Amino acid sequence: MKLSDKEIMAINNLKGRLPLRITPYFASLIYKSKYSDPLRRNVIPVVEELLQHTTEQSDPLHEKSFSPVKGIVHRYPDRVLFTVTQVCSNYCRYCTRSHSVGRLDKLGRQDFEKAFNYIAAHKEVRDVLISGGDPLTLTDETLDYILSNIRSIPHVEMIRIGTRIPVVLPQRITDNLISILRKYHPLFISLHFSHPAEITDECAKACIKLADGGFPLGSQTVLLKGINDNVPVMKELMHKLLKIRVRPYYLYQCDLIPGSGHFRTTVRKGLEIIKGLRGFTSGYAVPTFVVDAPGGGGKIPLLPDYVVEHNDEKIVMRNYKGVLCEYPEK
Ligand SMILES: *Cc1c(COP(=O)(O)O)cnc(C)c1O
Repeated sequence: MKLSDKEIMAINNLKGRLPLRITPYFASLIYKSKYSDPLRRNVIPVVEELLQHTTEQSDPLHEKSFSPVKGIVHRYPDRVLFTVTQVCSNYCRYCTRSHSVGRLDKLGRQDFEKAFNYIAAHKEVRDVLISGGDPLTLTDETLDYILSNIRSIPHVEMIRIGTRIPVVLPQRITDNLISILRKYHPLFISLHFSHPAEITDECAKACIKLADGGFPLGSQTVLLKGINDNVPVMKELMHKLLKIRVRPYYLYQCDLIPGSGHFRTTVRKGLEIIKGLRGFTSGYAVPTFVVDAPGGGGKIPLLPDYVVEHNDEKIVMRNYKGVLCEYPEK
């Protein structure tokens, strides 16, 4: 690939930072791209990434302080996040876990047993979100081992897997993988898309295959400056997702990780995008816009201001076209 000076300088200074890693499949999509290409910016660092703003911190969601045992983040009352690997097949430059992913810090069998024991001992945990890193970079056998252990805990009602594999390594969605995952229903799969151009024929096939396996598919998108921070691109992405049976779930305000300044937009921009979607397209195409609160406060949903006035008598609201509507409160 022909790289720009800004990219070369960034790549030469990655030591100790989030590594560069791109699958051959994803590289084929950006091989001839321009410097400003949205898919290229996703994976190829630029010098701005080396700059750290004072508001940025390496673990902005304070996941470490919510981690009772290695791999588990227990922030909410009834569900846990279980990061089973630090490895991904592509590293997204705006990764919220850029402080920990890509490091050689593998969970051993003992760590896994401790995590299973933690979940088993916490009867309030009815939902386990397996993420990382990307869990689908693990072998079929390891996934089977993890899932069977979690599924054998009676109070775990649902399992989710968070992965970007269908976007970056669609050939990983094999028949064998599907037949292993199918044993552990209800299993939801949370995907991550950032731009409509990621939805190639190969990616579509992988998603449809997962949908046919019976896994409800959701998508999470990070709002990124110059990549997807406008209504037409976001609408196209949401429409293309629904066509491959993926339901948009969350739109995230970009986390304050070190070197993310060139990716971050204002919160106002996110609200503007939601305002441009809601009412103008299928409700299924509208994700929930959230800010994952710095300091570990969890995800906070935000809506454009539809409420004009609200008292004991009535609520006055503005609809998507700006028309005022009233509903009595008594
Ligand atoms: C996002 C997240 C979850 C899942 O949140 P939902 O709103 O249920 O999708 C669980 N635990 C942690 C630590 C998270 O960051």
